[in-house]
Amino acid sequence: MPVTYEKADHEVHSLIRRVMKQYHPDLATLEVKLCVLMANAPKDEHGQPLAPAIKLHGVPCAATIQILPYKQRAAGREDAELLIDADQWKMSTDPQREALIDHELMHLDPQRDEEGAWKSDDCGRPKLKTRHHDFDFGWFRAVAERHADASGEVQQAKAFADENGQTFFGWAAPPAGAGIEQGPTPTVAMDKLNEIVTPEMQQAREEAERAQEYADMMDAVEAADRAEDDATGACPHLSDGEPAAKADRVMLGETAWIDITHRDGKYELAYAANIGRQSLKSAETPRTFNTRADAMGAGIEDIDVWLGVLTQKGFRGGQQAQADAIKAALDDLLSPAH
Ligand SMILES: [Zn+2]
Repeated sequence: MPVTYEKADHEVHSLIRRVMKQYHPDLATLEVKLCVLMANAPKDEHGQPLAPAIKLHGVPCAATIQILPYKQRAAGREDAELLIDADQWKMSTDPQREALIDHELMHLDPQRDEEGAWKSDDCGRPKLKTRHHDFDFGWFRAVAERHADASGEVQQAKAFADENGQTFFGWAAPPAGAGIEQGPTPTVAMDKLNEIVTPEMQQAREEAERAQEYADMMDAVEAADRAEDDATGACPHLSDGEPAAKADRVMLGETAWIDITHRDGKYELAYAANIGRQSLKSAETPRTFNTRADAMGAGIEDIDVWLGVLTQKGFRGGQQAQADAIKAALDDLLSPAH
C-alpha cells in the first residue's frame, strides 16, 4: 500500500494561520495560499507504519513545503504545497506543531522588486523563492574521528558551537558550576519513548541521540583543545607569557600574542587570540616570510580582520574590554614609532 494523502482539516489550517500571522506577517499580508496535505504512511495489519510517509533527499521528515510553479497556479492550485506526516502530527504537542509549521513557512521567501514592492507572477500571485536553512550539516562521524581538527566536520562543529552554542545546546549544557544536580536529561525522556515504538518515534529518538552525541562531541572537542593547549602552552589564557623556543613574542593585551621564530633564514609566523569563547589561532604549519616585518604584518592583519568580524557580531560583557586591549596593542604596533 502506498502513501496516501488527505486534505488537512480545519484545525490544522487554523494553526497554520495563527503561526503565519505571528511569525510571517508578510506571507499573511500577501494572503499566500497553501495546499496542505496530510501524508499517511503505509501500515501493516497491526497499524504499524511500513515506511516513512514523507522523505526528502532520502531522509524521512515531519513535513516538506514546495512552491508551486506558475503553470499549476494558473490551473487553479495554491501558491505552495505543504505536506505533513499525519502520524507524527498526531503525536506532536501544539508547541511542536507550531515550531514545525514555523520552520516550513521560513522556507517561503516572498520577493520584492527594486522599488521594494512585492513581486507577483502572471496569475497575480505573490512571487516566492525557497529560503534555505541557515545551517545544513553534511557530516561523517568517521571523517571527524579520523581527521579531527583538519576535517570540515570538526571545524564546522567548533565554529557552530562557538557562535550558536547557547541557542542550540543551551538545554544540553549543565549550568555553570553545577555538580551532579541536573534536571531530567534527554536520556530519561528517551527511555520513556522506548516504551512505544513506531518508525516516527524511532526517528525522533535517533534525532535526539544525534543531538546528544553532537553535544558530547562538542565537549570532547573542547576538552581535546584544552589538553592540547595545556601541552603546548598555545592558549594565551594558559601560557605564562613564556615564549616558545627561539620565538620572539609580542603580547597584544593579555589574551593575544604574535610569535615570530627565525629559522633557516626565514621568519615563521604564529599567533593566537582569545575573546571569551571565540578564538583565533594560526594554522599548525606556520607561514614563513622573508622578513620579520612581513611576518608581523601578516599576523597583525589576520588578528585585525578577526576583530573586525567579531565587532560586527557584537561583544558581550567583558569581551569588549579584551578586544579593546588587543586593538590598542595592534594600533601601537602599527603606529609610525614601530
Ligand atoms: Zn526545512
